[in-house]
Amino acid sequence: MSMRSFLEQMEAKGEVLHVKDEVSTNFEVPFIMKKFDNKGLILLFEKVKNYETKVAANVCGTRKRICTALNIDPNGLYSSLIEAWRSPQKPKTVEDGAVKEVVGKPNLSKIPVLTHFEKDAGPYITSAVIYAKSVDGSVGNVSVHRLQVLDDKHFAIRLVPRHLYKLWQMAKESGKDLDVSISIGVHPAVVLAASSPVPFGVNEFDVANALMDNGLTLVECERVDACAPAEAELILEGRISVTKEVIEGPFVDITGTYDIARKQPVVEVVGVMHREDYVYQALLPSGAEHRLLMGLPHEVLIWESVSKVVPKVNAVNLSLGGSGWLHAIISIEKQLEGDGKNALLAAFAAHPSLKHAVVVDSNIDVYDVSDVEWAIATRFQASEDLIIIENVRGSTLDSSADQETGLTTKMGVDATRPLTKPKGKFERAKVPVSKRAEEVARKLLGV
Ligand code: MN
Repeated sequence: MSMRSFLEQMEAKGEVLHVKDEVSTNFEVPFIMKKFDNKGLILLFEKVKNYETKVAANVCGTRKRICTALNIDPNGLYSSLIEAWRSPQKPKTVEDGAVKEVVGKPNLSKIPVLTHFEKDAGPYITSAVIYAKSVDGSVGNVSVHRLQVLDDKHFAIRLVPRHLYKLWQMAKESGKDLDVSISIGVHPAVVLAASSPVPFGVNEFDVANALMDNGLTLVECERVDACAPAEAELILEGRISVTKEVIEGPFVDITGTYDIARKQPVVEVVGVMHREDYVYQALLPSGAEHRLLMGLPHEVLIWESVSKVVPKVNAVNLSLGGSGWLHAIISIEKQLEGDGKNALLAAFAAHPSLKHAVVVDSNIDVYDVSDVEWAIATRFQASEDLIIIENVRGSTLDSSADQETGLTTKMGVDATRPLTKPKGKFERAKVPVSKRAEEVARKLLGV
């Protein structure tokens, strides 16, 4: 299983739009990606100015497509992800794979890396999954990081203080640069696993393999001590320096605003492997795909946490308007007065970056923002149903949070129907339906 086979599957379903006109990596490809951001289609740029390589974009752009890639019914998505997180399975390592069709010396200027936004510091790789292991070999980790191209052989890498940062710190103590594989164009399950909040010590390749029903194979790199997906489109072999740092950024992150420039480590690229006709994978920062990949695994955390305090959680949506990160809409089956507020507290505990959360009843569609607004309009009283928590840690990506301390104010809105007031007042009116009316309507709508 690979990105290649998934693209073929999507091609057959008519979900791939071929862009045949010549466009440049410098703003032109990103401009078209942004124009098509909410259309749900995969874009395949066939003629990229100055490059031989095709560029695929928006591969994991919709919930539905992610479910298709994982071969999961959308209703079982959260429980399937949790199962894979809890029961990772080691993938097979094979001698050879499609990615080793060409093994050679690296030259980053030959790869169609995009320059996305007006004030970005330069071209950035945004879809790479990066593998590294601990100095003693006991811990393997896979995560997604942005890479700023500095020259033909060097990147600056943004290391948020999480797992790869920890491995880099451990390498620093031993005084040896950290070997990494940088894989581009991998199966959606690998990207989703790499975006998942599993604990340090769990290898995300094992999680991906569990999601792929044992369909992931790995190869060992040629020039560094690291493994990578055998069916990837492109693998760069690199070393994260433990001594050299440069200014990285500014660069647009998930909220669509510029993340600040800061000192970050340099990666030296020492080798490259790719398919003969490799396809480069692009991912638009702050686009629907970015928000979905970052948000979805955190919806699972919220779902799990809220499930512990109320009888049933119907759905969770880290909404696109909230950048897939800062706003959650949660629908629950309310049993007792107070369930709504308990659900809010559980959601904030599960996802520390969460800023605003709305809890609604199970008959409200969490993906329909108008429906949610209707619930707030008819079921919510600010003097009774609002929670405000001041001076708590939130997301540094929120421009309105205190940029020095990272402190922010969180707001929870309990828009569930109050059980203490007469039920009839809150009933959503229905028009009685007959078979004939239904048929006529269906014919008119052409469905
Ligand atoms: Mn990890």
